Amino acid sequence: MAMSRSERLPLDAPALRAEFPILQDRDDGQPPLVYLDNAATTQRPQQVIDRITTGYQQQYANVHRGIHRLSELSTDLFEQAREAVQRFIGARHSHEIIFTPGATGGINLVARSWGDSQLGPGDEILLTEMEHHSNIVPWQQLAQRTGCRLRFAPVTAEGLLDLSGWEDCLNERTRLVAVTAVSNVLGTINPVVTLVRRAHEAGAVVVIDAAQSVPHEPTDVLAWDADFVAFSGHKMLGPSGVGVLYGREELLEAMPPFLGGGSMIHRVTLDGFTPANLPSKFEAGTPPIVPAWGLAAAIEFLDRVGLPTIRAHERLLTEQTHALLNALSGVRILGPSPDQKAGIVSFVVPGIQANDLAMALDEQGVAVRAGHHCAMPLHARLGVSASVRASFYLYNTPDDVERLGQAMDCALKLFRRRH
Ligand code: PLP
Repeated sequence: MAMSRSERLPLDAPALRAEFPILQDRDDGQPPLVYLDNAATTQRPQQVIDRITTGYQQQYANVHRGIHRLSELSTDLFEQAREAVQRFIGARHSHEIIFTPGATGGINLVARSWGDSQLGPGDEILLTEMEHHSNIVPWQQLAQRTGCRLRFAPVTAEGLLDLSGWEDCLNERTRLVAVTAVSNVLGTINPVVTLVRRAHEAGAVVVIDAAQSVPHEPTDVLAWDADFVAFSGHKMLGPSGVGVLYGREELLEAMPPFLGGGSMIHRVTLDGFTPANLPSKFEAGTPPIVPAWGLAAAIEFLDRVGLPTIRAHERLLTEQTHALLNALSGVRILGPSPDQKAGIVSFVVPGIQANDLAMALDEQGVAVRAGHHCAMPLHARLGVSASVRASFYLYNTPDDVERLGQAMDCALKLFRRRH
């Protein structure tokens, strides 16, 4: 039965899943892991694992330093990885791609470099109530340093960005708008193109937190017209420790370096330094060399499967999850209907702690996340302190969703029998 459903899927998830060692049969005779914590981090296919292994075994040396052949090879591969990212997100220049430790690193770079040099008292930054802490705290710290003010556009009860509320917050004092493309809790897909256009009309610079969108749908930073876009390799089948900040060339050129050290300089004397050109200016120290190669291998994998296909696949799983959870009594799904969201379904069951529920699911081999998912203000807005989150990727199958539904049914019966 499940196979016939799989056959109708936009992609062959069972075949793709076979490429992920961690998702295969387990030694303990238990059924394979149902991994539904992809919004936190994804798993790696053999292709990415092999790329990392080959890299360390045969190609590794420091980059942009040596003149020996291994260093030249390593440097070429590192720059090819940058070009792979450039193509993947449709950037104009490869020097607009800065390798960072992750989305958090990219947003902090903008806050420290652009923010510290541009903002002061009287200036405003417009955020939303649905941001990840990574897109709140760096701006709070910036406000503490510079005296600028933060404003938060409201989220509707349904879990959508309140567009008229957002417009009400936008004014001639707004110097920066930072918004997530997809909420990591609600799955809500925000209208990035409209938001960027309106922000630019108001004269603001725009940062898009694309940590939850780049891995799951095609990205075209020029169509978005965004000034900065940040995302993480580990959420898109790549290694942890590498992420990307895309920045528009003119802005990056004008910004002072953030971290100081090796590689980011053109010349150093005892009296001072002159910064290197882009992108080195923002890559102080030894960069994430092998992780960047691994990220390029992940991009190759995603290109092979196709982002539109991945998006369509996750949409079906999301619809299936909504239907299953809605059939269980007492489950409240947070966020909008499947047609307005990505493959993320968070929910609460009044009277049952999210942590307890997630542990009960884990005992049945279903890995989900429980807690505030680094979005405490959003949970406060929704009137809950924590939620359970199931999030999908290309290797998840309808059977995984069935197993989530069965595990939830069992867990709810158990908890309700106890009380
Ligand atoms: N922004 C969003 C929307 C996220 O979901 C996450 C991670 O969960 C981040 C930013 C931070 O990503 P990282 O921890 O990889 O820097």
